[in-house]
Amino acid sequence: GQYLQLWHTISRTTLSAEPDRLSWKWNSRGAYSAKSAYIATFNGSTGCDAWKLTWKNWAPPCVRFFHWLANLDRCWTTDRLARRGLQHLVRCPLCDQDLETMHHLILACPFAPQIWYEVLHWLRLSCAPPDFSQRLVAH
Ligand SMILES: [Zn+2]
Repeated sequence: GQYLQLWHTISRTTLSAEPDRLSWKWNSRGAYSAKSAYIATFNGSTGCDAWKLTWKNWAPPCVRFFHWLANLDRCWTTDRLARRGLQHLVRCPLCDQDLETMHHLILACPFAPQIWYEVLHWLRLSCAPPDFSQRLVAH
């Protein structure tokens, strides 16, 4: 089977008397460049404008920065302090019920629904706060 597949592939190839040369397929000249290699790394990827939610909005810079850190799970919550071997509280300092993680602070803490309600009310949005019954999987 492999022989027939190779035969089929070769049968469409035209040989010439010119010496072989390498060709870079990621630009029109066929020559390698660092720029074309960089652009090639994104071949097949899709663009994502999620960064605009964080950086292109009217929120104050400190809020945007917090959102960015929270999205990357880089805030100094107790679980992160524990992972780094730093001094930390055992439980959430607000509710004293669970380990303080970003998920807990933003969604699962018993104080979170009230904060969400206040924020949504202040923004005059009538949408429901996030679903607190679902747990996010840490990754
Ligand atoms: Zn809590």
